[in-house]
Amino acid sequence: MIALSPYLAALLLAAAVAVTWAARLWPARPTPAAARTEPEAVVWLACHTTRCAHLTTRHDETPDGLVCRSCGTVNGGAAA
Ligand SMILES: [Zn+2]
Repeated sequence: MIALSPYLAALLLAAAVAVTWAARLWPARPTPAAARTEPEAVVWLACHTTRCAHLTTRHDETPDGLVCRSCGTVNGGAAA
């Protein structure tokens, strides 16, 4: 068994206390705001092509209309 001198034991204890105390005082990392992965002009719309099988898919608003992201078909009227 390793015999620690009382001074070394006290030093190790003080070091452990200092580390936990510093960790507690360290400012918590602020949680980032929810990352926005979708642009504003995304519309969920049913796409009736065989590829999309009438499923609701994301559509981007374009001057030509709502374009399906999966198959590129223009669905719906032109955006205002
Ligand atoms: Zn589609």
